Amino acid sequence: MSISPNNGNGENQPQGSPPEKDQLSLDDPTTRHPRISPPEQDQPEPGLDARLEPHADHGEESYTGTGRLKGRKALVTGGDSGIGAAVAIAFAKEGADVAIAYLPAEEEDARDVAATIEAAGRTAVTLPGDLTDLEYRRRLAHDAAEALGGLDILVNNAGKQLSVERLEDLDDEQVRTTFEVNVLAMFTITREALAHLPAGSSIINTTSIQAYSPSPHLLDYASTKAAINNFTKGLAEQLAPRGIRVNAVAPGPIWTPLQVSDGQPKEALPEFGHNTALGRAGQPVELAPAYVFLASPESSYVVGETLNVNGGKPSP
Ligand code: NAD
Ligand code: MG
Repeated sequence: MSISPNNGNGENQPQGSPPEKDQLSLDDPTTRHPRISPPEQDQPEPGLDARLEPHADHGEESYTGTGRLKGRKALVTGGDSGIGAAVAIAFAKEGADVAIAYLPAEEEDARDVAATIEAAGRTAVTLPGDLTDLEYRRRLAHDAAEALGGLDILVNNAGKQLSVERLEDLDDEQVRTTFEVNVLAMFTITREALAHLPAGSSIINTTSIQAYSPSPHLLDYASTKAAINNFTKGLAEQLAPRGIRVNAVAPGPIWTPLQVSDGQPKEALPEFGHNTALGRAGQPVELAPAYVFLASPESSYVVGETLNVNGGKPSP
């Protein structure tokens, strides 16, 4: 995954030069990252960040930590690419050791993220496997806790999204696996993680604007996101008395490999994100501060909340 930090003028900095800006720079959000018009492209599922055109910004250079997660231990599913990669990198830069879970086919992306975590001076643990495999997802939190020496942040972020125009063409197998990856795995992983999470821990689920504004071509995916919102609020009530906070982040259109591996109709890619109030798609790094906030003790009175990071799309 190569890095293309933006210099704020819609141009990319040369590789290797020091960042002129980080997430604390004061600038215009309409131009802080470029308004991209990605070419039509297609990758087999799951897509790779390494092959995404243009490359996405995961904060390798553009995110600077301030020690807000010092000594914490996090598991991030789907931490190899996109939003999960940005979250894993930001957590490490904030002082956390991080385990990432991903599909074996994504090893290339996972290695890049692990290298960035290690470059930040933190421990990276890589846990490849398929979340439709019940044994793998039952083991996942235990393996992460064992490798990290504990666990106090769980980010349920892995997701499957396949665009299908007509319900007549949406087969039961796709609906089943989408629910299995997006919803059932969240139940399994979270339940198993509870054996390790002490009071003060944080669980953060990745939902979507699709939970309340479903696209007609994403019926199965959008339904899983509504389920995740509901799960988040109910579980938050259940776990708050135990000192474990549960919240969600609801991204809008973010430039990630999910979108080019049949997540959107190909012809929609050049316009991706242009219909937001900011007029552009978001970059994964722009999601990271929301997860850092919800993971950190600074958000100690925030429970069952959904933080929308969507470029200004109206949300409930
Ligand atoms: P992404 O492709 O980079 O991340 C999704 C990850 O899910 C993959 O990297 C993969 O590791 C994991 N995954 C998928 N199927 C899996 C399986 N069977 N077993 C194990 N892991 C599996 O894309 P992203 O956009 O960063 O997605 C991250 C989350 O953000 C998802 O939950 C997605 O629904 C959500 N989201 C994305 C957007 C967006 O516009 N990109 C918007 C709203 C919500
Ligand atoms: Mg990936």
